[in-house]
Amino acid sequence: MAEDVDRIDETGTDEEESKPEEEKLEEKKPRKTGRRSNPFGLILNTRMLRRVFQILAFIGINGYILLSWFHMPNVQAFWLSIWQNLPTLPILAPLEAPFGVIAGSFDTMIREFATGIFPFFTLGAMIIITITVGRAPCGWICPIGTIQDFITLPKRTKIRPAPGTESELRKIKAYVFVIVAFLAVWVGFSRITGTAEALENTLGGFVNDAFAPLNPAYILFVVLPNQLWPTGLDTLWYFTQWEWALAQMGFVIFIFLISFWVPRWFCRWLCPAGWFYSIFSRDSIIGIGRNPARCTPDTCNVCEVVCPMNIRIRRYPYQHMHSPDCILCLDCRSHCPNDAIVLRFS
Ligand code: SF4
Ligand code: SF4
Repeated sequence: MAEDVDRIDETGTDEEESKPEEEKLEEKKPRKTGRRSNPFGLILNTRMLRRVFQILAFIGINGYILLSWFHMPNVQAFWLSIWQNLPTLPILAPLEAPFGVIAGSFDTMIREFATGIFPFFTLGAMIIITITVGRAPCGWICPIGTIQDFITLPKRTKIRPAPGTESELRKIKAYVFVIVAFLAVWVGFSRITGTAEALENTLGGFVNDAFAPLNPAYILFVVLPNQLWPTGLDTLWYFTQWEWALAQMGFVIFIFLISFWVPRWFCRWLCPAGWFYSIFSRDSIIGIGRNPARCTPDTCNVCEVVCPMNIRIRRYPYQHMHSPDCILCLDCRSHCPNDAIVLRFS
């Protein structure tokens, strides 16, 4: 499809500067295959399906907005019937969102730790989901991933750091996770033993979830609505904190602005939730593989050029691409000129 050709040409250009010499391959143009010659391909292709799914999930996660703003109780009831059967999802979604109908596993787990509760149920559900479908919720449901994907779409030239820099930057999210989890466990333990007062005073707004003030989902779905429509005395606090709220909004705008040039940079480098989910997703039952009879890794790197997570796909075994960063977006599969990328069930 013409769209395929555009995306490959656009995304490939600036990566060349950051690649080692042996990596500088002449990129293949996608050739027409049976799959892409489908006359309905423009509507029914995987990328289009994912975009639609992401939009529906974005609305669904904030399902109460349908009732509050648009007076659509039946539609809201439909979303609730789906979400009520799911405890939490491995995405980034805050517990306190006034319009939110489901929370992220990471957000819930941190709150439970900080309250002195061990998150058996949250962890169990998260592990089951991630060892089954990997980080597909990151690729198909998470609202922060969705916003970044849509911001990246119109940009023709993507910035992709050199592999060494990329791998160093990826470590940041692990450090963030360790700090946030450590503080949550510490606060929870102090609360159980009745010695939390000094710690609570020291941590202030960071006490229940140290990541929340910097969490774009928290800022968008909790701070912003509460700032514009305070729902109770507890949220009136924000009225006295406009400067802090504006700084948080500025941070969110910065995140989304950068993703115009660097696809999913927040997911790749900063998100502690994504890092935690990746521990269990590496060997998920559903994953990506390459057909060795079709893949031509020495002369083609299209899959790596289009991967929003900047994964060096050709370095992994053909049978199963065990990258913890794969979000199962299937962009590599959609763009592969040889139809060599396959879904694996193992
Ligand atoms: S890495 Fe974090 S922000 Fe990105 S999609 Fe996953 S949970 Fe959402
Ligand atoms: S390897 Fe493929 S499916 Fe995984 S994140 Fe990259 S493009 Fe998406």
